[in-house]
Amino acid sequence: MKKLIIAIDGYSACGKSTTAREVARELGYRYIDTGAMYRAVTLYFIDHHIALTNPKEIERALSQIKVSFVVNSKGISETFLNGVNVEREIRTMRVSENVSRVSALKAVRMAMVEQQRRMGKEKAVVMDGRDIGTVVFPQADLKVFLVAEMLVRAFRRQKELLEHDDLVDIDSIIENLRQRDSIDSTRAESPLRKADDALEIDTTHITIEEQVDEVLRLALTKMIRHQNQQP
Ligand code: C5P
Repeated sequence: MKKLIIAIDGYSACGKSTTAREVARELGYRYIDTGAMYRAVTLYFIDHHIALTNPKEIERALSQIKVSFVVNSKGISETFLNGVNVEREIRTMRVSENVSRVSALKAVRMAMVEQQRRMGKEKAVVMDGRDIGTVVFPQADLKVFLVAEMLVRAFRRQKELLEHDDLVDIDSIIENLRQRDSIDSTRAESPLRKADDALEIDTTHITIEEQVDEVLRLALTKMIRHQNQQP
């Protein structure tokens, strides 16, 4: 069976990560959460007081950052920064509030995209982010772009934070999502946009299971089509 590269892009809190993780599990593929990589870099920049206006400092910091993923005993991939598990820390508001400014930096994007391309080299991968279908893997076999209404996105994010005992009011979450949408889609370096050949799924009124099923159906269609083209 042909191994695919599946790119899942879209706005924050539209269910990209949950969908990508489940699709990868069902297909036995590797799941790469590129948002987690930018979040880990941001955490390092905050903790080391890196000035975003100082290119030399940024370069030096990037040379000292190693982001990796380790699958835990429950089969869930967790993010490590220089060998330390930062999965919880990177989801906090202090990181969310800074990540879009950090990920807009050209040097940061170049370093992450290079790693992401290396991670996807063997194919059989589901990668979620903002620029996977447009910049990281423009030749991806399947490109999906997720959208949803703001209020639904905000409530989903609030529930996620609450699962980690982090109670954040809905207005702060909406403000953060709006701010990130705006920075992510207007930045000069690989802005968030739907690739011309991506399939858009509006997740406002559908469940995670339905989202996952839809992406799996699209993936299987690609595989069958490829199989039928073989002599
Ligand atoms: O996916 P998540 O919401 O965790 O991503 C956090 C932030 O990382 C985004 O708001 C965006 O600024 C940045 N990001 C990016 N490119 C990606 C993935 C995430 O710029 N491929």
